[in-house]
Amino acid sequence: MSKKKTISLPDYVARIAEIKAKLKFGGNFSNYLQYLICSDNADDIKKLLEDEENQKPKQISEARPAEFSNRCPCCNKKIKIGEKICNALFNDGHEQFVHKKCCKV
Ligand SMILES: [Zn+2]
Repeated sequence: MSKKKTISLPDYVARIAEIKAKLKFGGNFSNYLQYLICSDNADDIKKLLEDEENQKPKQISEARPAEFSNRCPCCNKKIKIGEKICNALFNDGHEQFVHKKCCKV
């Protein structure tokens, strides 16, 4: 998931940033910004990712392709026929099928 943001920079900053983005990230300005923000907030980002990972339900069955469409309770997106799903155990003790990518092993 990613959010679109509009930013403004003084011309001289934008020029340098575009040169750097070209050199280090194949011209992908978003990747350059992400690199800068992550470098500046490494501990906070690590903790956030760990918290998100801990909230995922635990995979308790083999992954298999979905036979009918449903809604994933983790990401709230549609589970399409053929997408990899598995049964998962939630923190409150209930079990439910979710996207394979939405649970931890
Ligand atoms: Zn999901």
